[in-house]
Amino acid sequence: MNAVILNDSGEEIIRRTMGAYKIADMMRADGWTVEVIDWSTRWSNQELKKFIDSLPYEIHMIGVSNLWMQDHVIIEQINYLKSQYPKAKIVMGGPKPYQRDFGADAMVFGYCEHALKPVIQWLFNGGDIPVGKFPEWAPNSLLVDANHSYKGLSISKYHVNYHENDFIKSHEALTLEISRGCRFKCKYCNYAFLGVKEDYSRSEDSLYNELMENYIRWGTTNYIISDDTFNDRDSKIEMLANVVERLPFEPNFSCFIRIDLVISKPHQVELLCRARCWAHFYGIETFHPLAAKAIGKGMHPDKIKAGLLWIREEFIKRIGVYRGTTGMIAGLPYEPPESWYDGIQWMRDNWESFFYWGLHISTDTDNTTQSDFSIDAAKYGYKLTDNKEILDWAASKGYNNYVEVGRQNNKLDSRILVWESEWSDFKRATEFADDYINNDFMKQKLFNFDLTEHMSKFDHKELMSFTCEDIYIKRNLNKLYLNQIKEYKKQKLEMYR
Ligand code: SF4
Repeated sequence: MNAVILNDSGEEIIRRTMGAYKIADMMRADGWTVEVIDWSTRWSNQELKKFIDSLPYEIHMIGVSNLWMQDHVIIEQINYLKSQYPKAKIVMGGPKPYQRDFGADAMVFGYCEHALKPVIQWLFNGGDIPVGKFPEWAPNSLLVDANHSYKGLSISKYHVNYHENDFIKSHEALTLEISRGCRFKCKYCNYAFLGVKEDYSRSEDSLYNELMENYIRWGTTNYIISDDTFNDRDSKIEMLANVVERLPFEPNFSCFIRIDLVISKPHQVELLCRARCWAHFYGIETFHPLAAKAIGKGMHPDKIKAGLLWIREEFIKRIGVYRGTTGMIAGLPYEPPESWYDGIQWMRDNWESFFYWGLHISTDTDNTTQSDFSIDAAKYGYKLTDNKEILDWAASKGYNNYVEVGRQNNKLDSRILVWESEWSDFKRATEFADDYINNDFMKQKLFNFDLTEHMSKFDHKELMSFTCEDIYIKRNLNKLYLNQIKEYKKQKLEMYR
């Protein structure tokens, strides 16, 4: 049996996101022949057809890893591909909630490892219908909530074997997974597996083997670690540090770090330096003490601020490179807007790489991975506003109105609570974040995950000095990306000529 899987990494940055490659790897292990078509929304329909027609076999399945794809683009592509390959089944997968009729046979929400086989058995081998439902908004598509019905928390293989037909270049950053789930359970967080007490980390040897394989085959040295919180266990950092010290090359890692843990366990700095994890994202969210406590990140903001300055100094002193990008949310419990302004001013005065979001709370109940705020917003002081001006404003901006206006919120979700609370409302929080985008975003030093993609293209000290404006506008990086995609397409199209 044969399949193609469409993949993409979004409008802003071109990188290899992992999901499609992981599914391709799993299907190949089950005897399928699979081609990943990356950056597929930048292929025209004719180019996709030309590629699929160039394959020396008929395709039975078209997979779509749609997390970073715009819905209207993928709907149009699926429509076209169905007209050209009517016998092929369309299977979508990923962590973005499914809320529209894409014309797929199956939509698998969440981590798909344990759902893949039942879905394939059903579609191709007369197996039982997997646990799921045909939603009224997509009556011909089976929606499988994998995080709920086929929980991919414990998996046997983290290692993703890429294929020579993926044409990976040595400068590209790949994704690495070291464990699943997060030990914590912040109230606003809608990641799949929270409050996980068991340790699902992979083994040191499997980690070493993956890094070595990618280095030998593609020359890869840079990675984004996708773990929800990489430093939730010392043992994970220590394992990576041990692996790094066995490698014949110097790698670089970018990851999600809880800064309060590093502050309370300062020995983690040494471990992170040994592991060459020097590009961090810190979800700090707020500098308001009551808000921090209410969301489950209770360390006093003064301690967090001092800790940020300390960790930056430590990394520069020890290994000479460091990037810490902070994520902040406007609209958290008990925090009045004046405190958002105080917080952003501290960032402007003291920190070089920060991002602000307005608080968005999902109301989706079809894809059941939900935050505590979503499950019981009222308990945390939020309710659907009855202020018509705010509701109209939200609709005019595309919130819950994606089909007409085309905007999606930061949870990649089109069913959100247009909230009001005692301390603020959805409009004020969203406008605050929009002001950040207009006034501050381009001045930021390149964000840690974006930086990873460039670690082999620039000297690290030079790279650390670049602002978003430098890299996206002055250096016109998009042109570089376009050239990369052009070359990739050419290689794919010439594979079987
Ligand atoms: S916000 Fe981060 S630390 Fe908190 S539960 Fe989510 S992944 Fe874990």
